[in-house]
Amino acid sequence: MNNDFDVVIIGGGVSGCAAFYTLSEYTNIKRIALLEKCDRLASISSSSKGNSQTIHDGSIETNYTAAKASKVKIAADKVMHYALSKGLQNKVIFKMQKLAIGIGDTECDFMIKRHEEFKHIFDGLSFFTKDEIKKIEPKVIEGLNGGDRIENVVASGYLESWCAINFEKLSQNFAEEALKTNNESEIFLNFRVKRIRENQSGGYTITSKDNREINAKFVLVNAGSYSLPLAQHVGYGKDLACLPVAGSFYFVPGTLLRGKVYTVQNPKLPFAALHGDPDVAISGVTRLGPTALAMPKLERSKYLFGNINSELLKIDLKVDALNVVLNLLKDNDIRNYVFRNMLFELPYFGKKLFINDARKIIPSLKIKDLTYAKGFGEVRPQVIDMSAKKLELGEKKILTNRGITFNMTPSPGATSCLGNAEVDTLEIVKYLNKTFDIERFYKDLNVVV
Ligand SMILES: Cc1cc2nc3c(=O)[nH]c(=O)nc-3n(C[C@H](O)[C@H](O)[C@H](O)COP(=O)(O)OP(=O)(O)OC[C@H]3O[C@@H](n4cnc5c(N)ncnc54)[C@H](O)[C@@H]3O)c2cc1C
Repeated sequence: MNNDFDVVIIGGGVSGCAAFYTLSEYTNIKRIALLEKCDRLASISSSSKGNSQTIHDGSIETNYTAAKASKVKIAADKVMHYALSKGLQNKVIFKMQKLAIGIGDTECDFMIKRHEEFKHIFDGLSFFTKDEIKKIEPKVIEGLNGGDRIENVVASGYLESWCAINFEKLSQNFAEEALKTNNESEIFLNFRVKRIRENQSGGYTITSKDNREINAKFVLVNAGSYSLPLAQHVGYGKDLACLPVAGSFYFVPGTLLRGKVYTVQNPKLPFAALHGDPDVAISGVTRLGPTALAMPKLERSKYLFGNINSELLKIDLKVDALNVVLNLLKDNDIRNYVFRNMLFELPYFGKKLFINDARKIIPSLKIKDLTYAKGFGEVRPQVIDMSAKKLELGEKKILTNRGITFNMTPSPGATSCLGNAEVDTLEIVKYLNKTFDIERFYKDLNVVV
């Protein structure tokens, strides 16, 4: 077996698979390996159970500024065009209605202003009054006791959009396409990277837990929550720590919502406001969530507090990291939000508390309609920048200029997978003195430059 590769990607989630595809299809790099610790691709955050299955393009995500939405939209469009160009309609990518709703006078004012600003970024973005919403998403308007809810409601969104996606299947498709186009590309499953060290040829030797070795001239670490521990193990990112925030979901019957319904963000809160998303992998159910529960684990497992990670303790047990978290908790809104979200996980009581939040979207929701989605949801590895003393809300990249890059990809990392793959590919070809056919990449993904 030849264990020498030009590029080794660690992590077979949607980020790793998108990079594997982009490098295999659009560069002249020949030997590319994808290493994954599990027995299949995309079984952690990118699994169909792990996330909200949404191409977050910024049109209905009220936690994005116009600047962020314009940026995210470029990456989101690449994912949509990829899926459509490969004929993955109704298998991987799904069309549905999507609305961001404002409830009550303050939120309605916010939505009206937001719509005016965002309609210039999003072609065809439509505005809906309460009467119009009643026709297209009736359960949002139906009150607890039958009549219409009292508050005014407005919405901004689309009656049809390719906005729902199964990132797990998308990852598998990237991998299949990569193997089809480059017969020297290889995938190694059940390869848990234990050690990465520089070798004498100026590259890296990567060792698995069961002592298999693979050499690489360039290493791209897309290991989700494990990217930061791996970076620190190689000596990078020592000024960063991680706040893992798990997101869970509740199921409601799919008959209640026709499409995606997003709510207005409390700007003080670091995580997206509750939303409703019809499930694209299980028919007949809609997910409400995700909740936000800080927990001492890098990946979720069967037991809420089982498998506490020693890797996490190593990177987090630092005064500066704890200070950033304690500072966040000084804010009343954040503190209440954190404690409420802890209670949402409790059997029986969790549901009773969660329904109050869920009724913001579906006022007539009954407790019998809510089921905790056991085994669904994953951990968002939010990065703490100890030098800047703040919690980073988006993604983080550690560039070393020494043939190894680390990506940390909390939400909307899955939406940005091809955008990130493009940036990494540019860096890799420069480092290895190879070429990237970016014109064809843009043409295939319908990117206007
Ligand atoms: C509740 C929730 C909802 C979300 N909803 C959305 C959404 O709707 N839209 C969106 O765009 N984003 C969403 N996100 C974010 C999105 O899920 C992630 O950004 C994305 O899946 C990250 O992909 P990834 O490939 O970087 O990481 P992952 O999917 O976590 O993949 C990392 C891979 O690395 C492997 N790995 C780790 N360590 C090692 C090792 N030592 N050796 C070998 N392999 C290793 C893991 O097994 C895993 O397969 C959501 C996240 C959460 C938690």
